[in-house]
Amino acid sequence: MGQDKGKLVEEYEILDILGRGGFSVVRKGVKRSNEDGEKCQEFAIKTLKRFTTAAATPPPRAERARASSMAALLPARNQVSISDALLTNEIVVMRKIVENVSPHPNVIDLHDVYEDQTGVHLVLELCSGGELFDRIVAETRYSEAGAAAVVRQIARGLAAIHKENIVHRDLKPENCLFLNKSKDSTLKIMDFGLSSVDEFTNPVIGLFGSIDYVSPEALSQGKITTKSDMWSLGVILYILLSGYPPFIAQSTRQKQQMIMAGEYNFDERTWKNISSSAKHLISSLLQVDPDRRPSAEQLLAHPWVIGDSAKQEQMDAEVVSRLQSFNARRKLRAAAIASVLSSKVLLRTKRLRSLLGSHDLSKEELDNLKENFKKICANGDNATLPEFEE
Ligand code: ATP
Repeated sequence: MGQDKGKLVEEYEILDILGRGGFSVVRKGVKRSNEDGEKCQEFAIKTLKRFTTAAATPPPRAERARASSMAALLPARNQVSISDALLTNEIVVMRKIVENVSPHPNVIDLHDVYEDQTGVHLVLELCSGGELFDRIVAETRYSEAGAAAVVRQIARGLAAIHKENIVHRDLKPENCLFLNKSKDSTLKIMDFGLSSVDEFTNPVIGLFGSIDYVSPEALSQGKITTKSDMWSLGVILYILLSGYPPFIAQSTRQKQQMIMAGEYNFDERTWKNISSSAKHLISSLLQVDPDRRPSAEQLLAHPWVIGDSAKQEQMDAEVVSRLQSFNARRKLRAAAIASVLSSKVLLRTKRLRSLLGSHDLSKEELDNLKENFKKICANGDNATLPEFEE
């Protein structure tokens, strides 16, 4: 692992863009066939861009000797900008996963890493089955039992990483992808850019995107543990069964307060047909005190998660239509944020303004984006502050 990009292009044919993240572009790649005529394998190649042009400076030799082979990849902390910190963090976490978790049906696998001046290229298992919510809203039949099958897969993935003291810290539906398009495809947890491993990493606190899935302890700068991921899973489950998030407020500040107080309810009109076992499970996951939340292992023994008490009947059509609009709004917002963070050129174009302007980003969200971009710039990245139009 850690080869240069010349090698990457020699070994993989790089195809279409599959998606973009704040600091990354993901493309499909096909491994060029070798002399043995081995079948061409497809992968997702995630390029994590370095904003600072110089390659990360390795730590001094004495320090390196103390560090593990993984940690040696990390540049000294005071030389790290936000984008570089995310980049090195993701590599460290992915390597730990390769060494201790892979292969696991519910955790993305890393096949190779290539490095060059522009960044790092992670050759990942290709998940061509789409994002969790996209698949659900496209389904005609949707039941509690189906939602339980999803929760089971996420819980299995979490149990495997938690066993290795890896906390995902950014668990949300867009980080859960189906491996393929088959009806019984496995679901994979991915995007370990903000995750933490033991004492090795000190990830950047999530500055971007929605706080919908963020635990109270993360918002109050408290200790983040494996139980923080369980809170996020509780939020995902709430949305899966209702089509809307548990914490809805006019402003981010208000939402933050509601999350920290654990202030949500099961509105009678929506929840009357949902089993009490499912509601009980959500209540146990959305407890402000992390110690009171069940672990992923415990969740896997819960009667609703096993499927025993999950209803088999089709859920109200309203749930799916609400989930459709929730999902559509989320995707537009994510596209706007990814654009702001990923392209300096795009920032100067009218496209950004139309992206932000026509898709219902509130003034507060726009201010947050501006604020976040300033923080990146202040942290030493070479990105220029965009011209925003009010
Ligand atoms: P951020 O890291 O800023 O939160 P993100 O999670 O969307 O953003 P990425 O992990 O870089 O960022 O993924 C960007 C998009 O690329 C995803 O939304 C997904 O559509 C696609 N993608 C990422 N990894 C894979 C993969 N292994 N297989 C298929 N598509 C992928």
